[in-house]
Amino acid sequence: MSVTHRLTAPAPGWTAATDVVVVGSGVAGLTVALNVRKAGLRAMVVTKAVLDEGSTRWAQGGIAAALGEGDTPEQHLDDTLVAGAGLCDEEAVRTLVTEGPDAVRRLIATGALFDRGEDGEILLTREGGHHRRRIAHAGGDATGAEISRALVAAVRTDPGIELIEHALVLDLLTDTEGHAAGLTLHVMGEGQRDGVGAVRARAVVLATGGMGQVFSATTNPAVSTGDGVALALRAGAAVTDLEFVQFHPTPLWVGPDAEGQLPLISEAVRGEGAHLVDADGVRFMVGQHELAELAPRDIVAKAITRRMQEQGADHMFLDGRHFGAEMWEHRFPTILATCRAHGIDPVTAPIPIAPAAHYASGGVRTDPRGRTSVPGLYACGEVACTGVHGANRLASNSLLEGLVFAERIAADLAGRHAAGELPERTVDVTAARAARPVPLPPSEARAEIQRLMSRGAGVLRSAASMADAAAGLALIAEQAHSHVAEEKPADPRVETWEAANLLLVATALVAAAAQREETRGCHWREDFPERDDAHWRRHLITTLAASGDPVSTPEEQ
Ligand SMILES: Cc1cc2nc3c(=O)[nH]c(=O)nc-3n(C[C@H](O)[C@H](O)[C@H](O)COP(=O)(O)OP(=O)(O)OC[C@H]3O[C@@H](n4cnc5c(N)ncnc54)[C@H](O)[C@@H]3O)c2cc1C
Repeated sequence: MSVTHRLTAPAPGWTAATDVVVVGSGVAGLTVALNVRKAGLRAMVVTKAVLDEGSTRWAQGGIAAALGEGDTPEQHLDDTLVAGAGLCDEEAVRTLVTEGPDAVRRLIATGALFDRGEDGEILLTREGGHHRRRIAHAGGDATGAEISRALVAAVRTDPGIELIEHALVLDLLTDTEGHAAGLTLHVMGEGQRDGVGAVRARAVVLATGGMGQVFSATTNPAVSTGDGVALALRAGAAVTDLEFVQFHPTPLWVGPDAEGQLPLISEAVRGEGAHLVDADGVRFMVGQHELAELAPRDIVAKAITRRMQEQGADHMFLDGRHFGAEMWEHRFPTILATCRAHGIDPVTAPIPIAPAAHYASGGVRTDPRGRTSVPGLYACGEVACTGVHGANRLASNSLLEGLVFAERIAADLAGRHAAGELPERTVDVTAARAARPVPLPPSEARAEIQRLMSRGAGVLRSAASMADAAAGLALIAEQAHSHVAEEKPADPRVETWEAANLLLVATALVAAAAQREETRGCHWREDFPERDDAHWRRHLITTLAASGDPVSTPEEQ
C-alpha cells in the first residue's frame, strides 16, 4: 500500500523526527501522546491552530460511563446498540463500555475536575437514549473545556512531548514496505520550521476530529474540515459509515449568511418546557410524536426541516418566554448570554433555531487496537470509525470513545515497541514524488461546497437532492483541473488545502449516502423511508480509485 494521491504543495523545506507523530490535540490526540510517553516513546503533537481549538473544548453535556450505583457496562452496551440501529460492532461497544469507567478515572487522575455532590461522589446526569444516570460532567455544562484544560496542562509539562501549533498536516509519508513513516505539514510561523516540512516517525496517529464544516450550518469549530479522512483516503486507507452524520435540532440561527460554528441551544431548554414554533407561532411537534419537542434528536431535526421547507423559511423558533427572566438567568445563564450577544432576548422573544451538522459517526476504519488498513497508520476520536456508533451516536459516547481508543493505540504501540516491531522508518522519497498531486479548488469553493451539502445531503436526503449535490461538487473538481491545465492553479495555502479536503470528503459522503437506499439511524432518505435490514444491515466501505474519485462498496453480509 502506498500513498496514491497527495495535495498539491511545495516540496518539504525542512525535516524533523520523532517516535510517534500525533495529528490533533483534542481528547483523542492528547491522550495518545500522554500514554505513549509511559512506554518511553517520544511524541510530537501537530495541531492546526492552538492546542484547545477542536470540538473537545465545546462539549457541554458530559462523558458517559457506567460509574453510578446499579449501573453496569452491560446496560450501557444495550443503550449504545439501540442508538446504533443495527450497525454497531458489538465487540467495539463492549470494549468502550467495559474500559470506559477506568479510563474516566484515569482522566481524573490526570487532573480533570468533575462535578461532585456533597458526599464527594461524581454527579451523574441522564441524557436521551440512556436508561441510567451515567453522564459525568464538569463545570455544569463545560465538560469539554475542563477535559481540554487538564490534558493541555499535562502535555505542556512533559518534556518528551513536542507540541507544534499552527501546523496543517497535508499527507502521509510511507517507507518502501508501505508502512507509515511520517507526514508532510505546513507550519504557519516564523523560524526554522516555517512553510512545508516533513516529520519522520515510527508510527502516525490521526486524531483530527470531525467534518462538520462540510455543511454550511454546524456546531463544529472551523478546524473540523475532515482533513484526517481526506488524508487517509489519499493514503489508500478504508473509510466507512460516512453517510451517518448526526444533526443537532436546535443550534441558534444567526442569519442567512452566517458562516462557521453556531452556538448550541441545549436540549435541556426543551427539557424544561420550551416549545418549538413555526413562523406563524404554531407548535408543530405536538401530534407528530408522543414526546413532542422531546422526541429523539433526529425526529425533531427532521420535523423542523420539513416545516422550514413547507413555509419557505430558513429557521424556526424555540419559545421559552414563559420561563420568565429569573429562570433564564439562573437555569441557563450561558445560553441567555449567548442569545443576548446575538441581539436576541429569550425572555421577551422566541429564539431562532435551525438544525446543523453536529457529529460524524463514520470515519477512518480501525480495528479494536486503532489500526487502520495502512500499516503504522492509526486513528482515534471523531476521525475514526471504530464501529462503536453504528448508524447513530448515543449522546456523550464520543468523548469516551476518544479516551478509550486513544489508550488502546498507545498500548498497541507500547507492545510493538517492546517487541522490537516499531523500528525507525526511512521515507520512500520516490513513492512520495510518484503520488498524483490533487488540483486545489480556490478558497471560495468552501462556501459553495457547504451550500451544496446542506441543500442536497443534509437532514433530508433523496436521490434527486444528492444528484444535484454530486453534480455541483464534480463541477468544482473539474474547474480545479481546468485551472491547472490552463496554468492558472489556485495557490497552495491553508484555505485551498482545506477546500480540497472538504471537496473530497463531501464527494465521498454524498456517494455513500446516495448508495444507501434506506432510512437508518441518522441517515434519512425521503425516497426510501423504511429501514431495510435485508439489503442494508451492513457498512459501506469507501476507498479512493486510481482516478482520485471515492468509491463505496457494500461490505459482504
Ligand atoms: C458543540 C458540541 C458539543 C458536544 N457535546 C458533547 C458532549 O457533551 N459529550 C460528548 O461525548 N461529545 C460531545 N461532542 C462531540 C465531541 O466533543 C467530539 O466528538 C470530540 O471532542 C472529538 O474529539 P477529537 O479529539 O477526536 O477531536 P477534536 O477535539 O475536534 O480535535 C481535533 C484536532 O485536530 C486538529 N486538526 C484537524 N485537522 C488537522 C490538520 N490537517 N493538521 C493538524 N491538526 C489538525 C484540530 O486543530 C484539533 O486540534 C460535542 C461536539 C460539539 C461540537
